[in-house]
Order: sequence, then structure tokens, then C-alpha cells
Amino acid sequence: MNHVDTLAAPSAAADRATPEETAKLIADVEAYCEEIRPLEEICYLEHEPNPAIRDLAKKHDLLGMPIPKRYGGRGVDSWTYARMLARINREGTGVRTFFSGQTSIGQYPILKYGTDEQKDRYLPASCRGDCTLAFGLTEPDAGSNPLEGTCTWRREGDKFILNGVKYLISNGSIADAVIVFAFPEGSTGADRRMSAFIVDTEGDTFEAEALHAKPGMYTSDTAMFEMTEHPISGDNMLGDEGNGFRIAMHTLVSGRLSVASGCLGTIEDCLTECLRYAKEREQHGKPIGKHQLVQQHIARIEIMRATADAMIERAAIAKEASDDAPGDKEKLAHADYVVAQAKYWASNAAWEAADRAVQVFGGRGWSELYRPFRHLQDVRVCRIYEGTDEIMQLKMASALLGKEYAAF
Ligand SMILES: Cc1cc2nc3c(=O)[nH]c(=O)nc-3n(C[C@H](O)[C@H](O)[C@H](O)COP(=O)(O)OP(=O)(O)OC[C@H]3O[C@@H](n4cnc5c(N)ncnc54)[C@H](O)[C@@H]3O)c2cc1C
Repeated sequence: MNHVDTLAAPSAAADRATPEETAKLIADVEAYCEEIRPLEEICYLEHEPNPAIRDLAKKHDLLGMPIPKRYGGRGVDSWTYARMLARINREGTGVRTFFSGQTSIGQYPILKYGTDEQKDRYLPASCRGDCTLAFGLTEPDAGSNPLEGTCTWRREGDKFILNGVKYLISNGSIADAVIVFAFPEGSTGADRRMSAFIVDTEGDTFEAEALHAKPGMYTSDTAMFEMTEHPISGDNMLGDEGNGFRIAMHTLVSGRLSVASGCLGTIEDCLTECLRYAKEREQHGKPIGKHQLVQQHIARIEIMRATADAMIERAAIAKEASDDAPGDKEKLAHADYVVAQAKYWASNAAWEAADRAVQVFGGRGWSELYRPFRHLQDVRVCRIYEGTDEIMQLKMASALLGKEYAAF
């Protein structure tokens, strides 16, 4: 295991993985994926949660891949982490979504905006697997526009008290702590500015419920939760008061890159499955892979893979450059833009690739018993969560036209 007992602050270079450590992580992810596949298959077909997603991640030390080594993470760069999420997502979008909740939108805002004390309290425990994290921005009446949220906070003695409901939260019913966004109780006008909190979920004032009415991603947790006079430590505001919207938007750059990377994994697995099946399955006296229209599906899946791969690499490089230059607004804006492009492209490319893979599998394609259909129904949500297709396009267009053309 890669964890440390003391939290001395070594240099940035010492926080990063060496080439040998990166190679070890790649091998660990491969071992995780091989071990989880048969378990995931059973849980998926039974439409049941798969506890091994988290347990095996803990076993293989995968719960803080890009987190600095000083906090017990593996210290890999954004591109390596993106590749690892793609590999994990070949096992299912639900499997990868757990990692996005834990690391890309859970640990990431704590790393970027947390105090030293918050980082020391939450990052090593979450890297060790003793603290599952989630990100709670969406509410029943506030999705694409989080500023329409109604969750509230107030100060009371040495505590913050939170009230309200968060909806459609990945890892929401298994999390030990959630990054929650809320407005000051009773505030209006200019005072109504969102703040971020690290909310420990213990106690009966925090009630979570897993949501089961979903077509796919059966094995991972999507939940809603309600906070009713929920007290948290007065040390648990994340970042400055009123800075919640900025923290949420910055975190979504990390989250969207994780979604795009996962979609690449969907495409890769669809391609693998199609190449195998097209050689095995015979119709009209020859393998279906010798029929030109089947080859067209395969060629389209490959071009989806190659383009998504290139866009994700470019986005990961931009995010890494932004992470390396905290406070550089231009670099962050560039990362935000190219990550939105990658997310929009990769999620639509994965949807097309899975649809074509279903077609290549014929009647067997329309069945949860085979991987293409599982990918198809799982990956559809990637065009919705962490910013819809529409919001990604609005972002791109307004970046090109200028702020005064922003459609929202
Ligand atoms: C499985 C799953 C997991 C999720 N995990 C998380 C999580 O971990 N944390 C979290 O905070 N949230 C999470 N979400 C929520 C997700 O991010 C939201 O569902 C998403 O942002 C869209 O919000 P909404 O569902 O309220 O749709 P709405 O915002 O109501 O949008 C409905 C439709 O209107 C369109 N629309 C809205 N505004 C505009 C506009 N200005 N211009 C053009 N079109 C517009 C949308 O694009 C969409 O097509 C998850 C959702 C799902 C399904």
C-alpha cells in the first residue's frame, strides 16, 4: 500500500508518481478490471449494487489515483488518470462513475480549495478507502442551473446547520462525506451567494435513499438525500464563503474530463467485442466481418475511438496545465472549454459506438446478456450528467461568440 502515516509537506515533484510508480498503477488497474469483471457481470444481470467496485478499489489502492502522494494518493498526471478511467469504464460506466464521484468531483475540490486541516482530515482517509465521497450540486428543481437551488445553511455556535434535498447524486447513499452547495438561510438579492461545504453524512438528520428506477448503471449508487437541521463542524466550509458557484464550476471541469474518459472506455470495449464477434459469427456462408456493411460499423466505431482519444488527450493536457497554475484564469477557461468539447464529443461518440455494436451483434445485441447493450443503456447518461449536451454546446458557442452572447 502507498499510504503515509505522517503528513509532512514534501516538494511537488515528490508528490508525483515516478515512471515506475505509474507503470505499477497501470498494472494495478488492469488487475482490478480483471478481478471485477465476473462479479460485475453477475450484479449487472441481477440489477444489484456491486460492493466489489469499492472493495476491490481499496484492495488495489485505486482510490486516489491523481491525488498527491503526500496524502496517500498515487500522484499520476491527468492524462494517465484519464487513461485509467477509460480502462475501468470498459468494465461498465457504473464502475467508472464510482471513481468519478470519489476522486474527480469528491477529492478534487478538497485538494483545490480545502484548508490544510481539511486536506489532512479527508484526503488520506478517502485514499485509504475509509471515507467514500460524493458531490451534491443537483436538486429536484435545480439541475442545469444550480443557482436555482434551495438548500440552505446557517451558522449556529461552532456548527453549520444545513437543510434541503439533493437529487441524483452518484455515491449519494454510500458516501461518508459529500461536497454540498447551499445558500445562506433567508438570503435574497446580492447576499444570496452559494457556499460549498464538506458534509459528514453521519446522524439521522442526514437521510439518503438509493434511486433504483434507472435503465442501466445498476451496480453503482445513484441517490437522493435530505438534510434536516443537519449539523456539521464549523471547520467544514470549503473555500471562501460565497465562492460555491466557482468551486462547483471548477470541479465540473475535472468531472467532465472523467466522463469523457469513461466514454472512451465504452468505445474501446465495443470495438473489442465487435472485432471478436464479427470473426466468430457466420451468416451467408462467411464470418459477418466479411460483409461490407458490418465493416462500416466497425470503421465508424474505430473513428469514434480515435477522435475521442485525441480530444481527451488534448483536454487532459489543458487541465494539467491549469492545475499546475492555480489562479491562472486563462488556463482554467481554456481547460473548461476543451474539456466541454471532449465531454460533448466523447459521450455522443460512445452512444453511437454502442448503438453500432448492438447492431453488429444482431438479436443478441438487444440483450443485457451481452456487453454492447449494457454499454448502450449505461452510456446514455453521459450526455446528461455533469452538464448536458445542450449546456456543453452553449458553453462552446458563447466562448466563440463572446460573453454578451451567453444564452443563459
Ligand atoms: C445517473 C446520474 C448521476 C448523477 N450524478 C450527479 C452527481 O454526482 N452530482 C450532482 O450534483 N448531480 C448529478 N447528476 C445530476 C445531473 O448532473 C443533472 O441531471 C444534469 O445536470 C441535468 O439537470 P436536470 O436533470 O435537472 O435537467 P434540466 O436542467 O431540467 O434540463 C432538462 C433539459 O433542458 C435543457 N436545458 C436546461 N437549461 C437549458 C438552457 N439554458 N438552454 C438549453 N437547454 C437547456 C437540458 O439540456 C435538458 O435537455 C446525476 C444525474 C444522473 C442521471
